[in-house]
Amino acid sequence: MANLVKVNGTCHCGKISLKGSVEPHMVVACHCTDCQVFSGGPFRNNVMLKSENISIHGNVSNYKKIGGSGAVRTQGFCGNCGTHIYAVDAELTLYSVRAGFLDQHSTLTPAKHIFGKSAVKWLSSMSQSTWFAEGPNSKEIKCLVI
Ligand SMILES: [Zn+2]
Ligand SMILES: [Zn+2]
Repeated sequence: MANLVKVNGTCHCGKISLKGSVEPHMVVACHCTDCQVFSGGPFRNNVMLKSENISIHGNVSNYKKIGGSGAVRTQGFCGNCGTHIYAVDAELTLYSVRAGFLDQHSTLTPAKHIFGKSAVKWLSSMSQSTWFAEGPNSKEIKCLVI
């Protein structure tokens, strides 16, 4: 078995926190149109955690959607601040935890990208845009990500 990486995160308002461990290759970026709508961003990065490797504190709100396969996917989020927490199957066996709210988010590198057919085309041109260190009136910097 691969070494498990410990992850932890807290939603923006602090009412929900999560701890768990994940196999490093189980980091998956999803470019489906539902992830784009829910997040308001071009994709969501997820870590896949088995139910025995996850512990959640706080009251997670749920929204059930029907996935492309016809199966129910419960979307868990903080009902107070709206932070996305996870998606899970009806049997609660495998949690797709949203990496963005985890403390380790910058090092959780996707091993796979799924739903590439709906990925936004501008991701590859990010380095050609103008980048600022912070807000739009801050120092201009070189693109650091590509
Ligand atoms: Zn919250
Ligand atoms: Zn998706």
